[in-house]
Order: sequence, then C-alpha cells, then structure tokens
Amino acid sequence: MISQIITDLKSKKYTATELTKKYLARISEQNPKLNAYVTVSTEEALKAAGEADKLIASSTDLDKLFEEKPLLGVPVALKDIFSTKNIETTAASNILKGYIPPYDATVVTRIKNAGGVVLGKLNCDAFAHGASGENSDFGVTKNPYDLDRVAGGSSSGSGASVAAELAVISTGTDTGGSVRNPASFTNTVGLKPTYSRVSRYGIIAMASSLDSIGHLSKTVEDSARFLQVTAGFDPLDGSSAKNEVPNYVEGLKNSAEAIKKLKIGLPKEYFLDALNPEIRETVMAAAKKYEEMGAELVEISLPNTEYALATYYIIVPSEVSSNLGRFDGIRYGFDRSKFGAEAKRRIMIGTHVLSSGYYDAYYLKAQKVRTLLINDFKEAFKKVDVILTPVTPDLPPKIGENVNDPLKMYLMDILSVTANLAGIPGLSVPAGFSKSGLPIGMQLLGPHFSEDLLFKVGHAYEQETKFYERNPNL
Ligand code: GLN
Repeated sequence: MISQIITDLKSKKYTATELTKKYLARISEQNPKLNAYVTVSTEEALKAAGEADKLIASSTDLDKLFEEKPLLGVPVALKDIFSTKNIETTAASNILKGYIPPYDATVVTRIKNAGGVVLGKLNCDAFAHGASGENSDFGVTKNPYDLDRVAGGSSSGSGASVAAELAVISTGTDTGGSVRNPASFTNTVGLKPTYSRVSRYGIIAMASSLDSIGHLSKTVEDSARFLQVTAGFDPLDGSSAKNEVPNYVEGLKNSAEAIKKLKIGLPKEYFLDALNPEIRETVMAAAKKYEEMGAELVEISLPNTEYALATYYIIVPSEVSSNLGRFDGIRYGFDRSKFGAEAKRRIMIGTHVLSSGYYDAYYLKAQKVRTLLINDFKEAFKKVDVILTPVTPDLPPKIGENVNDPLKMYLMDILSVTANLAGIPGLSVPAGFSKSGLPIGMQLLGPHFSEDLLFKVGHAYEQETKFYERNPNL
C-alpha cells in the first residue's frame, strides 16, 4: 500500500531500487502464469527508481519531498492503451504491434512527475472492447483467484496485476465498465471517475463521449491517493473539467462518521432476476452492514435502466467506428486486416447505425434515451446520497465460456454502462467472496464529481471488512 511504501522509504527500510527489483522479480515469476503484462519496462523502471533514491538520499526534508512527489518510488503499471514515450503501446491489438509513441499521455506524465515507477504495460481486450480480456490479440489474462477463469475486462491485466501484487496500482479505462468489472473479479478497488475528471489526452480512444480514465488498487485509500495525482484540468483535452480537485485522502479521515447521515439507494432494476444469487446475497449483506453503521437504506427506481444496454451498444459502436478510422495503414497501424473480430463487428454496427436512413431510428433515438438515463439519476440523487448495486450479473466466467457468444459477453456490462452514459462516477469495492472463493464486488454510484463521497463510503466498509487482506494463492 502506498502509505506503507512512503513510510518505509522515508525510514530507509529499503530503497526504491530494491522495491522495484522485488516487483520485477515477482513479475518474472508470476506473469507467465497470469499473462497480465504485455511489456515489462525493466530499464525505464530501474532508472526511475534510481532517480527516486537520489532524491531521497539528498533530501533535507523528506516530508516535503513526499508531499511534492506523492508517488515517489511507488510501482505502477499501465493498461497498454496509455501512450508511453519510447515504450511500445499496442492496445493489445496486432494492428499496433511495434508502435512506439513519441509522447506520454497526460496521466503518464503526471504519474512520472509524482515520482511513480512505471513497471510496464498491461494486457487488455484489444482497443478495450470486451468484458473478459479474451479479445486481446496477445492471449487472455488469467484470474489470480482461479487460473481457469477470466480476470474481467477490458482492463484484464490491470486487475490481475494488482491482485497478484505485480504492481501496487494500475491504470485502466472505463467506457462501459472496464475498470469496475475487473476490479470486482479480482478483489480490487476500481474507480471510474466522473467523465472529464481525468484527462483523456494520449489514451487510445474507444468511445470519446464515454471514456473515463480510472485505476485499480488494493485499497480505497490508494485509489484516493492516485486520483489526487491524475485528476484535474488539462488544456490538451478539450472536454477536461476545470472543477477544483478536493483533498480526497484527507476526506477519508471521517468516513465512518459520514456513513451515519447517509442515505443509500438500492435501485430495484439492478437486482435482476437473472442476478447470480451469491452476488445478490453479498451486496445485500453489504447494504445491511451500512445500515448497522448508521446509514438509511432507501429502495429507489431508475426506470429507464432496461434500455441502457441497447443504448450503449448503439452509441459505442458509432463512436468506435469513427475513432478506429485513423488506423488506416497510412497514419497508424500497418495492416487493417489485422483488426480482430470484435473491432470489425463494432465498425460494421457503427457505420450501419450512422448511415442515412438508420441514423434517426438508431443513433438519434439512442441519444434521446441517454438523456432519459441521465434524468433518472438526477431524480434519484434528490432522494439519496449514493446508490449501491452489484457490478456484474455473474461471477468471473471460465475462460472460453462466453467467447463465441457476443450477446452473452455484452450482458456482462448491463449494470455498469449506465454510469458511463450518465457521466457519473462509480467505485467498485470488494464486498466478499463466493463459496467457491471467487471475489465479488459492489458498485457505489454518486452524482457528478462526488468521488470524495464514494471514497468515504467505500473506505468505511473496507475498514470494517478488510477483504484486501485475502490474497490469492499463487
Ligand atoms: N465491456 C464493455 C464493452 O465491451 C466495456 C468496455 C470498456 O469499458 N472499455 O464495450
């Protein structure tokens, strides 16, 4: 955990270089089993760690140094959809194999400026299309809690790497659940920030009106510490928000207190008939726990939820077909025939729903339904402070189980896409385990820019339950 690392580096218990070497050794040992990393940037990581050590050795005021560089010496890994200067960036697609970006994404620049040590690039579904990691051109990532199962997607390597302690924290992108889904499958905390809270500059675009730049960690506190670094206005991203960034870490101090005045909404539409019963029980048990801690539970309705998935799968392919247009073999990418089946499917659906005659019937209609979904949340947040739901309708599937059935794969997103359509933040927090030992997450949703509140609510529960202490047996 970040605070422990900072304490240890300050007291010279170990150096940043020693810590980095420990993580690199663990990656060498475990990655062949998990396939979480697609690139390990050993040289760059050791260089950054060496620089951190120099700063620590020459500092006369370590508290000030770590205030200025809140991730100094902390091992971080990046989803391979974040552009990294001089480090191959593939979006886990063969079409970008060998592509070396000439610049860093803004988030990467901020991580480096904060002293973070980038260990490498993480596997994902190609171009972030998917919910299981199986659309990666470089092989599926395995779930550290059960190697026969997927680690979730599309940020598959992000969940697996943190769960297996191959990184302290990892970045991810969430367009329809891709941070929250792998977090719930790997007993990690996954934050999808408010749309526009974190810069999208330099991140390979999937669906530009939905892409949120988030991260996965073992604890809520680490998530808060990391957002402190990544959030904030960026002139390089036209949609970036100018809202002030609150002190998220400070806000955690009174989290138990904050629960006492809290109204938590349970939307009946999210507790589907088809919901896995163990997930239902676990999330309801978490709700009860909040009640014991002083919160009031309120049953609410988000009446247009049933249209969310169809709306998402019209808007997303439309934007995907436009964004993938740049991989034409002239500007980026070498051979368009290397697009995988899922990218091709989305390009075809997208161009179809945007074509003359179909535009009004599909695309425009979907945009109108999107407004209804936004209004559902607005109404709900007049009655409650946060909303509690399951993250996925089912436990992590076996590798291969859904791979030939796109519709079944899309159904995994049914509880997560609404937050992206509405632009609100969502936090996936470990809620327990199935009888067979598989992680189960719960989703906390709040109004725009309420990340500080979601952290408090997640943190209070985490302090009571401490599921992060239950590591996988690898
Ligand atoms: N599973 C969803 C999809 O395939 C979400 C992907 C994402 O959030 N990047 O579109």
